[in-house]
Amino acid sequence: EVCVEPSSPQRLSQYACQRRTTTINHNKIFTDAFEVLIEHAEFNENEGRCLAFMRATSVLKSLSGAVRCLWDLEGLPCLGDQTKAVMEDILECGKSSKVQEILSDDKYQALKLFTSVFGVGRKTAEKWYRKGYRTFEEVLADSSISLNKMQKAGFLYYNDILKGLNRAEADVLSQIIEKTVHTIVPDAIVTLTGGFRRGKEYGHDVDFILTTPEQGKQEGLLGCVINKLRYQGILLYHDHQQSTFDFKKLPSWKFEAMDHYEKCFLVLKLKSDLVEVDTRRDDAAERDWRAVRVDLVAPPISHFAFALLGWTGSRQFERDLRRFARHERKMLLDNHALYDKTKKVCLSAKTEEEIFAHLGLEYIAPWERNA
Ligand code: ATP
Ligand code: MN
Ligand code: MN
Repeated sequence: EVCVEPSSPQRLSQYACQRRTTTINHNKIFTDAFEVLIEHAEFNENEGRCLAFMRATSVLKSLSGAVRCLWDLEGLPCLGDQTKAVMEDILECGKSSKVQEILSDDKYQALKLFTSVFGVGRKTAEKWYRKGYRTFEEVLADSSISLNKMQKAGFLYYNDILKGLNRAEADVLSQIIEKTVHTIVPDAIVTLTGGFRRGKEYGHDVDFILTTPEQGKQEGLLGCVINKLRYQGILLYHDHQQSTFDFKKLPSWKFEAMDHYEKCFLVLKLKSDLVEVDTRRDDAAERDWRAVRVDLVAPPISHFAFALLGWTGSRQFERDLRRFARHERKMLLDNHALYDKTKKVCLSAKTEEEIFAHLGLEYIAPWERNA
């Protein structure tokens, strides 16, 4: 029979930060199904279910072969009865009836559609659904709904943003960002992070960390970058968030979606021969550009390694790094610092390797963090 981990006598860890997960996923038929279940659980605010399916998905992504039968799952962590039942369904019928049911659910379809708009979260989507709306046309026709700046951009560039970017386009964008940043601070450090640093071929945005060799000189950099991008005529949308960095409050003791660094969420015009523009669309007929999402974050150099580790992802890898630190090492990790609760000290680090070493973890390279 097929064995999933033929040459690995070691038991797979329950923590994603102790597994090596490349972009090659041999179990997509299962993980695609679980992504639907995860999203459905998220919409219903069922955190427990959500977490269980996320962990199971992550374990399956780390396997070196496809699961062919339930026996293959023997000894694997994070796979409970619920997840096994779904997988059994898929192994027997090629699909899961539970997933099919959700996919054809009216509420799921509406929330999925609405949250696909940049700036529209679960709460807003739910509000629109409760008003009886199922399509964008219905939402946009209601004059009592006032869209914020982000949502307006989200609707305006919907098709472009939904398309995301490939690696070649991300590279073109990297050059634009680097050039722009270096006209302001010549020795600034521009580092590609997020999914593209993990080696993904496709992304919904491009993420960069900007910092300067001189501590503190990154302050005000993002404002200048935004001005330069505007001057170049490629700035379509920006949400600039000032730093709320307070050293005394480090580390922030809970899971936080946001960190305290100065950052900006952008929509930029990407002009290039490489860029595919969908010319079938009326509004695209005359343009030679596509709207793309870009995130910039500007930590001080002293915290660069923590910011880089935090922004490289994947989200599940980050979640498990923090959980591992807390439960296995009595340490607190976030995008700013690593705190040892036993010694009552913050452990500094200049590189990601040092952070892994502080945690007593084998180093996992960025392209192995696609958990
Ligand atoms: P994709 O290719 O779809 O963009 P991604 O892994 O790059 O995938 P992002 O949403 O761009 O996903 O996030 C990249 C990383 O940055 C994640 O690990 C996430 O934890 C972190 N991140 C994203 N937004 C924020 C934020 N506002 N504050 C702090 N960290 C964030
Ligand atoms: Mn990204
Ligand atoms: Mn991002």
